[in-house]
Amino acid sequence: MKIVIQKFGGTSVSTEERRLLVLEKILDAKKNGYSPVVVVSAMGRKGDPYATDTLLSLLDKHFKESNLQATDLLMSCGEIISTVVMSNELNKRCIDSVPLLGGQSGIITDNNFGKASVINVDTKKLLPILNEKKIPVVAGFQGITEDGYITTLGRGGSDVTACILGSALNANKIEIYTDVDGIMTADPRIVKNASLIKEISYNEVFELAYQGAKVIHPRAVEIAAKSNIPLVVKNTLNHCSGTIINKDGNEKYNSVITGIANMNNRVQINVSLADNDGNSNYFNILNTLGENKISIDLINVFPNKKIFTINKNQFIPFSIMMKNLNIKYSYEDNCSKIALIGNGIKDVPGVMATILKTLTKEGIEILQTADSNTTIWCLVKTPSSVAAINALHRDFNLENKYNCIKD
Ligand code: ASP
Ligand code: MG
Repeated sequence: MKIVIQKFGGTSVSTEERRLLVLEKILDAKKNGYSPVVVVSAMGRKGDPYATDTLLSLLDKHFKESNLQATDLLMSCGEIISTVVMSNELNKRCIDSVPLLGGQSGIITDNNFGKASVINVDTKKLLPILNEKKIPVVAGFQGITEDGYITTLGRGGSDVTACILGSALNANKIEIYTDVDGIMTADPRIVKNASLIKEISYNEVFELAYQGAKVIHPRAVEIAAKSNIPLVVKNTLNHCSGTIINKDGNEKYNSVITGIANMNNRVQINVSLADNDGNSNYFNILNTLGENKISIDLINVFPNKKIFTINKNQFIPFSIMMKNLNIKYSYEDNCSKIALIGNGIKDVPGVMATILKTLTKEGIEILQTADSNTTIWCLVKTPSSVAAINALHRDFNLENKYNCIKD
């Protein structure tokens, strides 16, 4: 049996018109010889009657914080509504389907309500349905504890449901349908000529997600990567072929950089030994930050100074902590961390040189850099970040790379 998991996001199932497009995607999969397992999110976005955020707005803050189990029960309702409504659409076309709760599809989780981890998937629940040529329509974002309580898997968790089921059923592919064509070389709101990425590796998507690009849940990518199942991000609203996420990504195209992402609201901190002479707290500063849950990155440690960045929203707790430890520091507010991501970086010399040349030509000051096997990060002042990203996007030939191939 060739199995495809087809996950439809909230905007894809939000109106009857869109649900008809969803139906077409399911019928196409059947026509191509696949047995589809459909996973749905709650309908629409905040403000729409059954969207997760709307449901959450029915509860007060105190209740939500102290009744996680009950909050999960409410949050799970959006997906439950979607699954029955989608089953109704299939029924209109005389297609047999079985709407299911996450738990009924076999997803067992721990009892970490609000962010539960899947501990087991019992495929005995779905296989007989597929064998009878019926389509399971599973409520995404939820599972059940061993003692029968409904849990949710963390916000955006329907992607996780799709990949968990794909992996348990050893699916041929997992399709994530949304309202954009796929993963882009850069945020199209920043780079006018951003183009669709045709193929990208699990690793690169992980880096993009870490950098704040909201395309797919990173946990979902991790699960698909472990089972080496290709993931395809596609648009419900057209016939574009989308972005394929797999092990090798775009290796065969010989490109160095696959995509550029950007994270604003960084503050660069500089703590020097000279300013803190005689203060033993200076030597433990990175540990102390960790213990106080202030996350830092772009960390450069020199014999006489430490430079790193923090998120702007942690600056006040950071400054209070520094005051208590009597540590002096200087800082650069309003920075952006640009990440150039590409598996090709490790094989090609001179990538950093190209970045420096490009940014210097544009008159953009680089405050700090760091690199790994797949990513080079540059810290710049936020007002120059748009120009920086556009120049890098142009000089690494990412413009208009691929057309949207119709399948
Ligand atoms: N409806 C859930 C959320 O908004 C899960 C999802 O959409 O993936 O987080
Ligand atoms: Mg989502």
